[in-house]
Amino acid sequence: MHELSITESILEIALRHAAGRRLASVHLVIGELSSYVDESIELFWKELSTGTAAEGAVLQFAREPGELLCLDCHQRFPVRSRDFICPHCQSASALPAGGKDCYVDSIEVFE
Ligand SMILES: [Zn+2]
Repeated sequence: MHELSITESILEIALRHAAGRRLASVHLVIGELSSYVDESIELFWKELSTGTAAEGAVLQFAREPGELLCLDCHQRFPVRSRDFICPHCQSASALPAGGKDCYVDSIEVFE
């Protein structure tokens, strides 16, 4: 249920940037390696935004490709179909380096 805390942060960031104006939509980027579920975020969003300037605002989701860092040759490479083998040195020791977060990309407000 970590979607609750990320949704709270999303709402806080969106309201801060809206500066009192009503929010029309919020564009989110979700990393492919993160475990955030769109539907859960949307559910919490409806609940948390009720009674705020963000009530009724639409959430738009975009995906960010996952990226891994090889622990042996220290090169970054994109994740392809959950294949965690480094294409440079064939090492299987890699850690997520990108695409594991969820963040607010932009917001739209009603003028
Ligand atoms: Zn490597």
